[in-house]
Amino acid sequence: MHMLTSPLRPPASHTRRQCLRVAGLACLPAWALAVSAAGPGSAAAASPAALPIFDAHLHYSHDAWDRLPPAQAVALLRQAGLKRAMVSSSSDEGTQMLYQAAPDLVLPSLRPYRSRGEIGSWMNDSTVVAHLEARLAKYRYVAIGEFHIYSSDADGAVMRRVVALAREHRLFLHSHSDADAIERQFKQDPDARILWAHAGFDSPDKVREMLRRHPRLWCDLAFRSDHASMGRVDDAWRAAFLEFPDRFMVGTDTFTPERWYYVVDHANSARQWLATLPPPVAENIAWKNGERLFGGLLAAR
Ligand SMILES: [Zn+2]
Repeated sequence: MHMLTSPLRPPASHTRRQCLRVAGLACLPAWALAVSAAGPGSAAAASPAALPIFDAHLHYSHDAWDRLPPAQAVALLRQAGLKRAMVSSSSDEGTQMLYQAAPDLVLPSLRPYRSRGEIGSWMNDSTVVAHLEARLAKYRYVAIGEFHIYSSDADGAVMRRVVALAREHRLFLHSHSDADAIERQFKQDPDARILWAHAGFDSPDKVREMLRRHPRLWCDLAFRSDHASMGRVDDAWRAAFLEFPDRFMVGTDTFTPERWYYVVDHANSARQWLATLPPPVAENIAWKNGERLFGGLLAAR
């Protein structure tokens, strides 16, 4: 099912980077160098006239901080021509460091994870609730997430509290979930606003069905490549984008440190496939949807 994506395969035009990508950590000095040289390094910087991008799915977790300090991470985001970057991290300190470095650019989202290993256990760990409450009392956010939750786990006590906290604090839920877990969250709070990470790695037809049923559901397209390849939009996805031009946004998903290398490439390749859609639809998906939903949330707090 999840093979709808081919996340490990970079665009065909980037063979040299593919070597770096496959080399994993070995690529770090290369992109660190590219950033510190400001420059455009190996990935072309966005031209001033380039379509702005709202990247709805970024992480700046603890194992990235030393290799890519906040100032360099922000330099990469700006090199990519991002208008906004929705960032969460394990732990939340990474998000706060990036937000302090670029409050005009970074929109903080609160992850339930204090370290990388909690993805599969957090929903059974009641200490997560106190962690979230303490952070919510101290800092401002636009969402809780991204968190991973599947099927009936979404009805567990910790997840129920997360849905309630989002409601109390008027926050979005950024949910990496199957469709079933999305349904369960809406059952708990029909007024919830959910950003469905990776559009659930589900098929475009299923995604359309979910969007028809839930007017307060939006999708990010992070870490999937079935919607567009070689700068062309897949036909079934094109139909989804045209039916729901105000419900999709793009995202890189920097879930490991080396994924930061792709922030600029991701923005540039998004601009390519978006250019094949009607301009108002492209602008919506590129940045206007994200800006409309999240852009004013911090100021309202
Ligand atoms: Zn993610």
